[in-house]
Amino acid sequence: MHISAFSLSRVPRIEFGPGLLAKLPGIARRYGTHALLVTGAGSLRGSPFWPDVTAGLSAQGMSWLHLSIPGEPSPQTVDEAVRTFHAEPIDVVIGIGGGSALDAAKAIAGLLKPGNSVMDHLEGVGPELPYAGPAIPFIAVPTTAGTGSEATRNAVLSVQGPDGFKKSFRDDKLVAEYAVVDPDLLATCPPTVIAANGMDAFTQLLESFVSSRAGPLTDSLAWGGMKVARDGLLALYADAGDAVARGRMAYATLVSGITLAQAGLGSVHGLAAPLGAFFPIPHGVACGTLVATATRINIESLRSREPSHPALEKYAQIGRLLSRQGQLGRDDAHAALIDTLDAWTHALRLPTLTHYGVTPNDIPRIVANSRGSSMKTNPVRLDDSEIAAIVAARI
Ligand SMILES: [Zn+2]
Repeated sequence: MHISAFSLSRVPRIEFGPGLLAKLPGIARRYGTHALLVTGAGSLRGSPFWPDVTAGLSAQGMSWLHLSIPGEPSPQTVDEAVRTFHAEPIDVVIGIGGGSALDAAKAIAGLLKPGNSVMDHLEGVGPELPYAGPAIPFIAVPTTAGTGSEATRNAVLSVQGPDGFKKSFRDDKLVAEYAVVDPDLLATCPPTVIAANGMDAFTQLLESFVSSRAGPLTDSLAWGGMKVARDGLLALYADAGDAVARGRMAYATLVSGITLAQAGLGSVHGLAAPLGAFFPIPHGVACGTLVATATRINIESLRSREPSHPALEKYAQIGRLLSRQGQLGRDDAHAALIDTLDAWTHALRLPTLTHYGVTPNDIPRIVANSRGSSMKTNPVRLDDSEIAAIVAARI
């Protein structure tokens, strides 16, 4: 095995395991006595975990302010929060929730002290000024198994509508100080969220595994993540009470955040950005509904243009892994991979793009806005007609 050059950027300190939410107050206390809690729209406050967190913080002598984030965060959400809390003596920002809450918390932690607008730093829009910090220490506590935001250095913010965008505020200084990953928190996750987020996590593992920036370190992590996702995704969808499946998907998601931050993604995430900007499509649904077709088109393009590309063997390895048929030849393994992804898409009842109002007339605009950072690390350079075919197949 040839070990190619690679770099490993920051990863949070990680506490992973059932029941480890109990460690959160003690970890937060290391940074001071004033916390800002950033959560999702409200389900956490009604859950049994909320009193544990707040009582735990009180027991540590900490005071806390609370901000809830309804839906996917926009730059305006972040700027308003920064204005509201800028003068407060906040020592630590704790994000507890799905990807939206964690991304919002990450961006707010980054800007509370500098106090400027997040629009100054968003990639691809505005002046793209370098971020100098300082960031307030951020602790990420995921309650879904989806984006892997607990391990990444970017916060995805979106403005939705015809002129919408979905872009990242990205810097190493935004990486969480701690990720507290307690799989028990997934017990309250509804099946539709488990389906979409689980497919997002799997897609992140798959895309970083075949990425043009993949390397031996992320490959071994992604491989293990895909293996446990194979064994955990449908089981967790069937029963969020399955503690073994919860652990598997929480792990697969955490690892997907590490691998995507190091190795990048591919065409599915390239397309998820404009789809989520122009239409009210949750990120995980966009990824889950596209991944089977996008994988097929990547394989077809590689076969016709770059038949000796190493990603073709990697796709075959994944096909053998998911189908549990280690003896399959390359072509059969590719077919097994696409069949498995199709079967998951069907079993998890992932809606088509039509469900969110996408029509064939929208395809050129979606394709034109798909060439962000994720598309750049796709294993093969797709032309516009190939990208259009991915979208068309899911309308
Ligand atoms: Zn994703």
